[in-house]
Amino acid sequence: MTTAKEYIQASFEAIKARNPHETEFLQAVEELFNTLEPVFEAHPEYITENILARIVEPERVISFRVPWTDKDGKVQVNRGSRVQFNSAVGPYKGGLRFHPTVNQSILKFLGFEQIFKNVLTGLPIGGGKGGSDFDPKGKTDAEVMRFCQSFMTELQKYIGPSLDVPAGDIGVGGREIGYMFGQYKRLRQFDAGVLTGKPLGFGGSLIRPEATGYGLVYFANEILKANDKSFQDQTVLISGSGNVAQFAVQKATELGAKVISVSDSNGYVIDETGIDFDLLVDVKEKRRARLTEYAAEKETAQYFEGSVWNYQGHVDIALPCATQNEIDGEKAERLVKNGAYLVAEGANMPSNLDAINVYKANDVLYGLAKAANAGGVAVSALEMSQNSQRLSWTSEEVDSRLKDIMANIFATAKETAEKYDLGKDYLAGANIAAFEKIAGAMIAQGLV
Ligand code: NDP
Repeated sequence: MTTAKEYIQASFEAIKARNPHETEFLQAVEELFNTLEPVFEAHPEYITENILARIVEPERVISFRVPWTDKDGKVQVNRGSRVQFNSAVGPYKGGLRFHPTVNQSILKFLGFEQIFKNVLTGLPIGGGKGGSDFDPKGKTDAEVMRFCQSFMTELQKYIGPSLDVPAGDIGVGGREIGYMFGQYKRLRQFDAGVLTGKPLGFGGSLIRPEATGYGLVYFANEILKANDKSFQDQTVLISGSGNVAQFAVQKATELGAKVISVSDSNGYVIDETGIDFDLLVDVKEKRRARLTEYAAEKETAQYFEGSVWNYQGHVDIALPCATQNEIDGEKAERLVKNGAYLVAEGANMPSNLDAINVYKANDVLYGLAKAANAGGVAVSALEMSQNSQRLSWTSEEVDSRLKDIMANIFATAKETAEKYDLGKDYLAGANIAAFEKIAGAMIAQGLV
């Protein structure tokens, strides 16, 4: 009889052979599979059902041309895509990313992680992801609008409030969601529930912009509480300076931490007196400027080129909020050497497999992305509920539900790790709990 270990290994080899160039996707699959042996030992039916081969294959991948004209009247063409990965527990749900690095491997890794993240929220949403290799950076509002209209002209054929509900991600914020919503409405009808992350005036939810950053800090706080610690007076390193990073800065500071950094793809700012949230938002959101401008205006801040994870000073807590694979084994070793005892991920897959091994070997408390950054999609699902009820909840109500959801996700990860004798391995706990729910729903629905 095939053992759990043999089945998982053979499945992974087959997935590698079938998707040889999709490195990010294979990495996300490997990270999950590395934690699944105990669950396959407990559920031999997963092997007979060949659940791994089924779960790694998207239900549908849509790819389309996005033509638009730039400010000089020149014709430009980008590629648009949507990966509708898994609808076992609800309509596909996941963001759209506009960034020049977007390709099928990136969208499949993000869509794959989204399946498990979404089920951890306890809300009825399946997993999907989409986007384009379009770069909104440096474009005029009119260029961004023309691109978004062209993108939605095609995407609208494949989405809907009970089918697939996209939201934002890197390069897609309120402005882009607004333009896409406008075009959807023009081609179909006013259907608030077709996109989330909408501006407040037409169906957006209070606390949705803050949700991923706040949720991350709530989740990290749960880990701290369970280990008799708190954010008070802790030195926190944050990467990124976009949506997630900004609200992580704000909430961690509110809980008494000293957040000393933010970063972008060129460099990072260190401010030993604490990052100034208002100035950060002014520079990034209102002026759409770079962090060099923040450093020029704040006397105590210094700007450095390169990765923030090269920082050499003392750190207690690291909150990566920029992008995938920003922390490798070497950077993880540096964090450990500089004192970090907790890493919680706002970005998706910011730590590579070597980095995760370093955390494990050094007993660093680890809040994996699938669990720690689920606050964004959770509040998106709450936005869908408000849209179907045609009601808007108060900030306090949404924030309190977000807090409860993050606390529940942590409790699930912790209890599942304990149930399987895995100590404080929250990564394995969250992966296993999410996997059991998805596998159970897929098997109950038969071969579809
Ligand atoms: P934004 O576009 O608002 O900000 C992205 C930030 O990351 C910017 O500071 C950007 O710098 C930096 N960044 C992007 N690419 C790179 C790179 N290759 N190297 C270094 N820095 C980079 O995106 P979000 O804040 O929304 O997303 C950040 C992360 O959080 C992503 O991993 C996303 O998938 C994840 N996430 C987001 C959610 C949301 O609700 N928005 C929900 C869950 C996860 P620059 O301006 O120089 O590009």
